[in-house]
Amino acid sequence: MTLGIENKVVVITGASSGLGEAAARLLAKNGAKLVLGARRIDRLQALAKELSLGPDAVVQTDVTVRDQVKRLVDRAVQSHGRIDVIINNAGLMPSSRLERLHVDEWDRMIDVNIKGVLYGVAAALPHMIAQKSGHIINVSSVAGHKVGPGGAVYAATKHAVRALSEGLRQEVKPYNIRTTIISPGAVATELTHTVTDPVVAEGMRKTYENAIPADSFARAVVFAMSQPENVDINEILFRPTAQVY
Ligand code: NDP
Repeated sequence: MTLGIENKVVVITGASSGLGEAAARLLAKNGAKLVLGARRIDRLQALAKELSLGPDAVVQTDVTVRDQVKRLVDRAVQSHGRIDVIINNAGLMPSSRLERLHVDEWDRMIDVNIKGVLYGVAAALPHMIAQKSGHIINVSSVAGHKVGPGGAVYAATKHAVRALSEGLRQEVKPYNIRTTIISPGAVATELTHTVTDPVVAEGMRKTYENAIPADSFARAVVFAMSQPENVDINEILFRPTAQVY
């Protein structure tokens, strides 16, 4: 069976660790042409070297800066003549109870998890409309479906990702563009390192005892991307088998 991934031009934000890195590995293995973005350029360069991607395949990108996200996507188009897929994956989860007033962390989550995704959409959409093809994959979370104490702002950002993705889905029909929301449960990555509240960190530690490897996400990406062009996988929600929340 051919997966139809070979030679697809794929941009991934947040590719320097965790889910983005795992997706890059599996897509490279399947012959995709990758352009990877994140702030930690050293990590991206090491990954690109390991995957034999070439120097043009990485762009230092802070997704909160619109011009930088545009530069990332434009690099893909300059290098390969098109962009087939963007995976808006960069995100962080410094969860805490609202009463603790970690307002700076709320701002960062809104900037990265929501505005970063919107900037990815803004950068890719004009190219995909012109091509009359494309696939926008936005990373939400189980927290995009459920809210728990300590997770209000993170959940709000991930609900927002689902809402904007559903609106996008309906709007891009005339342009033959596919949209997928992927909502993982607990996956072992660096995400929990962003939690600064000790109470939430302890609860998180328990949830993440069941965490599954990041290639679970990569396989979900490959599943969505490898469908025939007239099949649009709009939502994937997956958890560790042992996860209740
Ligand atoms: P990691 O912390 O391992 O990776 C996060 C990635 O996002 C890093 O590559 C980081 O790169 C990047 N990133 C963070 N801030 C920015 C920024 N301002 N600009 C560009 N890139 C940024 O966590 P995950 O891999 O787990 O997270 C990926 C996505 O998956 C997130 O959206 C997260 O919310 C979501 N998710 C994860 C789950 C999990 O259990 N792991 C569950 C549900 C959803 P750098 O620091 O180099 O910029």
